[in-house]
Amino acid sequence: MTLLALAAAKAMMASSAFVLPLAKAADRVLGPRGCCLTFHRTAPSGQWERLPNRDFYVDADFLDRFLGYVREQGWDVVTIGDALRRTASGEPIGRYINFSIDDCYRDTYELLVPVFRRHNVPVTLFVTTGIPDGTLPLWAAGLEDALLHRGRVEVDGESIGLSSSEQRRAVFAQIAARWDGPQAGSRYAAFCADNDIDIDAMHWKHAISWDMLDVLARDPLVEIGAHTVSHARIAALSPDDALHELADARLRLNERLGIDVQHFAFPYGRAADCGPRDFALAREAGFASAATTRKGLVHAGQDAFSIPRNTMNGSHRSLAAMEMHLTGLSGAAARVMGRV
Ligand SMILES: [Zn+2]
Repeated sequence: MTLLALAAAKAMMASSAFVLPLAKAADRVLGPRGCCLTFHRTAPSGQWERLPNRDFYVDADFLDRFLGYVREQGWDVVTIGDALRRTASGEPIGRYINFSIDDCYRDTYELLVPVFRRHNVPVTLFVTTGIPDGTLPLWAAGLEDALLHRGRVEVDGESIGLSSSEQRRAVFAQIAARWDGPQAGSRYAAFCADNDIDIDAMHWKHAISWDMLDVLARDPLVEIGAHTVSHARIAALSPDDALHELADARLRLNERLGIDVQHFAFPYGRAADCGPRDFALAREAGFASAATTRKGLVHAGQDAFSIPRNTMNGSHRSLAAMEMHLTGLSGAAARVMGRV
């Protein structure tokens, strides 16, 4: 079965003529199930092609098309709270999808939530509170912005001329890999100084603000959850620090927005980033659920503190690739390849 899943997964990536009929057959075999999908940012189609870090974005037109498709196929779009109610009930639960947006940038407010409103379906926002508080350096967003809009940048003592979109993507990948880690914030600050970038102005160009979140928190289609204070890799922290990251984010959202946050998503979210100790800490911090980014489907009896979510990768702009998640084949393939 697993080898078959892997072979099917490879074939499906290449062929929607193959995958869409298979998805229909799978619906009959797989029956009731939930699928949680997550991503970070969106951009208009016209801009998406040029973005240096475009895998991080879902093309807004594709998202619109995909929402139309899932509703046409009879999937219910639900909040995490609704998904948990369905997994807890012993009744047949239908097919349902949750969409969650992690971190939360300005485009969550300006572009993403409006797409969900247009389809009159809910969306979950997992907010990293350091973004609206201005305490988390958005180094990847700032680096990407500079690479997109400039013809030349100074990076770590080197002057790099920028010509094509392809080259900008390669430069982004190279610098991001070099900076990633605890020093990323200070390297980004030096980069801003070397390139005459106003680091605060750049932050607010990309960050979601508390004023925006105030509006979103009052939208009946928006469910707000927490995604730590500083986007820390929870498994790497001491129990005390980890608990603070979880509980402080929840308290900050509750106090600032006047809501009662129930749900949490682990940053990064793979097996090495959050484990059983951290699932217990999420419960201790007062959450009713916690989500990972381990691929897979949700069935009745799902543990509420290790909910699987499938990441929508920006480069997969096809219904066939999305059906991989909806049928659970991407999860099966990930397990075969040890990518958990
Ligand atoms: Zn995140």
